[in-house]
Amino acid sequence: MDYGTFFLTNFGTVFVFTVAIGLLAWYNRRVEGMQWFAAAQLVGLAKLILQGLEGRVPEYFSSLIANELYLVSFLLQWMGLRWFVVRRPGTSRWPWSLVGVLLAVYTCALPFRLPYSANLINIPFVVVCAASAWMLWTNAKGQFSEVARVCAAVAALQMAVAAYRAVLTDLRYIRPHETAYAHTDPCWVYSLAAAAFFADCMAMCEMWFLVTELQSELASQARTDPLTGALNRRSMEEAALRETARSLRYGSALSAIVLDIDNFKRLNDTMGHAAGDCALQALVRLLRSMLRQQDRLARMGGEEFAVLLPDATGEDALVIAERLRQAVAGLETGYEDRIIRMTLCAGVAAFDPAFDWEEMLRRADTAMYAAKRLGRNRVADWTEAEVLRVENPEAQGDNDTQLLPSGRTSFEGE
Ligand code: GH3
Ligand code: MG
Ligand code: MG
Repeated sequence: MDYGTFFLTNFGTVFVFTVAIGLLAWYNRRVEGMQWFAAAQLVGLAKLILQGLEGRVPEYFSSLIANELYLVSFLLQWMGLRWFVVRRPGTSRWPWSLVGVLLAVYTCALPFRLPYSANLINIPFVVVCAASAWMLWTNAKGQFSEVARVCAAVAALQMAVAAYRAVLTDLRYIRPHETAYAHTDPCWVYSLAAAAFFADCMAMCEMWFLVTELQSELASQARTDPLTGALNRRSMEEAALRETARSLRYGSALSAIVLDIDNFKRLNDTMGHAAGDCALQALVRLLRSMLRQQDRLARMGGEEFAVLLPDATGEDALVIAERLRQAVAGLETGYEDRIIRMTLCAGVAAFDPAFDWEEMLRRADTAMYAAKRLGRNRVADWTEAEVLRVENPEAQGDNDTQLLPSGRTSFEGE
C-alpha cells in the first residue's frame, strides 16, 4: 500500500468524523461525553496534520508532539467513554500525574535519540486502550449494554494493534527518528491502516453512544411529568399492569395510595401559580425521599398523585400513607420570602385478585375522597370508605365532592 494515498484517505476520514462529532457535541452540549469525544477527535486531527508535515517542519513537531498528541487524544476518548458508562467524575489524580511525567521524560529524551524511548508513549497507549476496553466491558449495563460491549471489542482490537506496533517499533525502529524509514515497510503501513480502521469504528461507536443517550432521554421524558419528575399516568398504568401480573403470579402483596393536596386552589389563589408549582415539586421530592426504590410515584393530574407499593399489604400501605401525611403536614417550603405549608388526604386500597389494578386505584381514590369528607389532612382506607358509604349512601362532601355507589367520584351536577 502506498503510504501517501493511505495518509490522505485517512486524513479525509478523520476530518469528516471530527466535523461530525464536533457538530453533534455542539448541538448536544448537555451530553458532556460528546465534548470529550470532540476534543479527542480534534487532538487526533492535529496529530495527523503534524505527521503530514513531516519533512517540512522540525522533527520535534512531526514526530515528538504528534506522538504525544496521539496519547492525549486516547486519554480524552477514555474520559468520554467514562462519562457515558460510569457517569462519576474520577477522583484519583495519580494516572494523570503519571502521564504528565511520561510525556515530560519523552520530550526530554528526544534530543538524545535514546533507543526504545518510543515505549514511553507506546506502552501507556496500550494501557489506555486496555483500560478503556475493561471499563466498557465491566460497565456494559442498562441502555448502553450493547454499544458498550461492541465498543469494548473495538478498544481491545485497538490495544492489540497498539501492542503489535509497540513490539514492531522495538524490533525495527529502535530510535525515534528511524520510523521515518518505515513508510515502505508493509508491516508498519498495514498495522497503521488497521489502527486507522479501528479508530473509525470507535468514532462510529461514539455516535452510537450519543444516539442511545438521546433515545433514553426521550423515553424518560415520555414517562415523566415535566414539572415534578414523577411518573405520568401512562407509565403508572404500565407499572400497575406489571405489578399486578407479578402479584397474581407469585401471590405477593400489592397496594396503592392516592394522595390529593388539600385546598390547593386556595394556595394558588393566595400565593400564585408559581408558588403552587414550587409546592408540587417540593411534595414530590419529599415523597420520593420517603418511598422505597421499588415504589412507583406518579402524578395522575393537577395536585393528585398515586403511589404503587409492591410487596405491601393494605395495613402496610396505611402505615406508609400516615407517615407520608405527617411528613407533608410538617413540610415547610420557602418560596420567595414566604413559607408554603400544605396538607393532603390519602386513600389506601390493597390489590384484590378478583379485580384489576384500575379497581384498586378507584378504591384508593374513593378512600381519599372519604378522607376529604371526614375533614382534611387525613388518611382513609377503602374499607373505611365503604363503611361510610353504606352508613350514609347520600353523603355529600363538605365542598364539591361526593361518593358514588360505584366507588367513582364526581363533581356536583354531573
Ligand atoms: P380539595 O382539598 O378538595 O382537594 O381542594 P383543592 O383546591 O385542592 O382541589 P380543586 O380540585 O378545587 O383544585 C385543584 C387546583 O389545582 C386547581 C388547579 O388550578 C390547581 N392545579 C392543577 N394543576 C396545577 C399545576 O400544575 N400547577 C399549579 N400551580 N396548580 C395546579
Ligand atoms: Mg386537592
Ligand atoms: Mg384534586
